[in-house]
Amino acid sequence: MAEQGKIEALYNKLNAEAEAGGYHLNPDKDFTKELVNGLLVNEERYGYPACPCRLASGNKEADLDIICPCDYRDPDLTDYGACYCALYVSGEVLAGKKKLASIPERRPAAGLPKKPAFPVWRCSVCGYLCARENPPEVCPICKAKKERFERFL
Ligand code: SF4
Repeated sequence: MAEQGKIEALYNKLNAEAEAGGYHLNPDKDFTKELVNGLLVNEERYGYPACPCRLASGNKEADLDIICPCDYRDPDLTDYGACYCALYVSGEVLAGKKKLASIPERRPAAGLPKKPAFPVWRCSVCGYLCARENPPEVCPICKAKKERFERFL
């Protein structure tokens, strides 16, 4: 268990970054702080904040796709209203208009050759990167429209 002060500090940082970027942390603070604790434990254990709901390998190269926020966050928010751990939730879930259900794992099974699970898009205005089937309608950082995104990977 990480120190309470570190959990609070990271929680506040992630919350501020999420809101500034058009994302939302799960409003259940106790649940969310458990996940934040998991991120701190993984940071200490591996040297990077691997997803607290997945088994990391300890090899950073192999785990790049599950360093929080993982490559799967945006498509899971779009399809299910939350990321795999439910650390991040959509505006609809936050407003109580959509209920959370279990989220299937998108990450390719361990041992399969590594390749990006989704196309990676880059905002040509601010450089924001996201991994998802299609670019977002609006850049969560600079609010540029979808047309300003280009395929990066
Ligand atoms: S599933 Fe959520 S908590 Fe886990 S790495 Fe992805 S964004 Fe972070």
